[in-house]
Amino acid sequence: MRHFAVVGSGPAGFYTAEALEKAYGDQARIDILDRYPVPYGLIRFGVAPDHQSLKAVSKRYDKVADSAGVDFIGNVTVGRDVSVGELLELYDAVILAVGSPHSRKLGIPGEDLPGVVGSADFVGWYNGHPDYVDLAPPLGGTHAAVIGNGNVALDCARILSKTRTEFEGSDIVGHALGALDTSAIRTITILGRRGPHQIAMTPKELGELGHLEAASPIVDIADFPPVEADDALEPGQRKSITILREFAATAADPAKPKRMVFDFFAKPLRIEGDGKAEKIVVERTELDENGAARGTGETYEVPASLIVTSIGYTSAPIDGVPYDERGGKFLNEGGRIGERLYAVGWARRGPSGTIGTNRPDGYEVADLVAAAMPPGSPSDRPGAEGLKRLLEGRGVMPTDYDDWRRIEETEVANARPGSPREKFVRHEEWLQTIGR
Ligand code: NAP
Repeated sequence: MRHFAVVGSGPAGFYTAEALEKAYGDQARIDILDRYPVPYGLIRFGVAPDHQSLKAVSKRYDKVADSAGVDFIGNVTVGRDVSVGELLELYDAVILAVGSPHSRKLGIPGEDLPGVVGSADFVGWYNGHPDYVDLAPPLGGTHAAVIGNGNVALDCARILSKTRTEFEGSDIVGHALGALDTSAIRTITILGRRGPHQIAMTPKELGELGHLEAASPIVDIADFPPVEADDALEPGQRKSITILREFAATAADPAKPKRMVFDFFAKPLRIEGDGKAEKIVVERTELDENGAARGTGETYEVPASLIVTSIGYTSAPIDGVPYDERGGKFLNEGGRIGERLYAVGWARRGPSGTIGTNRPDGYEVADLVAAAMPPGSPSDRPGAEGLKRLLEGRGVMPTDYDDWRRIEETEVANARPGSPREKFVRHEEWLQTIGR
């Protein structure tokens, strides 16, 4: 019997557990560890609350957790309660599926002023991540800006623009819903350092902006190359650009009080304000011969008392695990970090791709593990039994999937009308719910 520890219960962790179970059948026990008693990582804390259909994938993860060879061990922080070195003593292989929980920094002056928040923090705030419950993003000014041209920037801008009725059916947490309801923000500027052809936004997500109840997307046709240039784009990107062109051809709806302004070729130079963010000084850019943004020397100011930087994520380093500072992920070759230690998902590749990208990724790493220790080969490591003994000695009380089910049932029972659940947002609340 082999024993595997998958660290992290987001999509990458669950797909890897599923793949290991398929490869080993009843010849392995797989433990999915998480620092929280609640599973799903990105699905719970990252995917936008108004994108419920994307969250439905957790049903598949439930099936994995219910299968005989897989266990969930929550409330255990690897790197604090147990080290990776200790896990490697206890398990035949350790697979890090810890994602990329931190926002990449812009590295410009003024970035630390109050009012500037990373997308990880902002997304965590409206999704009920315990680290960001008390973020209190300033919503009292009329202007906000989101820096970045990816799907997360779109999520943040859309959430800032929505009305209370548009959140019906979502699982946005009560504190965010209440705060957004009283928001004074009327203009949300989305800053891209390059042009429309270089966006990292996908058509479905962009298309949603055309159907917002209170906000009109504003796009300047002067930012586009001639329409014939769209032919060279890959079909998905061409679709996105077509949507942007439609926005450019449509006048703002006077009945909608909010504007979502796409400001292309705009590179943030610094953030200024008297003790708090008030404006971003940006430099107009153009594309150089390699398609990168090159400053033109022309600068202007974009007013914003809330600035969300949404330019990608980094993994959190773990003691004893080689880390690639530049890539913001663990140093690995095709998922292998070192002897019996692996990484999957964003911890392996960096923050790119959809939820589904993690499936082949997890299966690939499971294949590496199976090649290194073929199913049927014996092991004398204790796995969960040894881990639980060690944790007990340290006063750490792990939780299991039944505990999660109880938390979930209570969240569903607490739901406000029209919402699938009312999430608990603090670690203590999760533990209290299961009588700890
Ligand atoms: P992303 O797709 O990598 O986009 C990052 C954006 O930040 C790019 O537009 C990039 O511009 C810009 N950027 C990077 N450094 C910058 C700088 N110093 N100054 C100004 N702009 C800068 O990252 P993401 O939006 O965080 O998304 C992460 C992954 O999750 C993506 O694969 C995304 O598609 C996925 N996701 C999917 C959904 C969905 O399917 N609904 C929702 C959310 C996220 P350059 O191109 O110029 O570098």
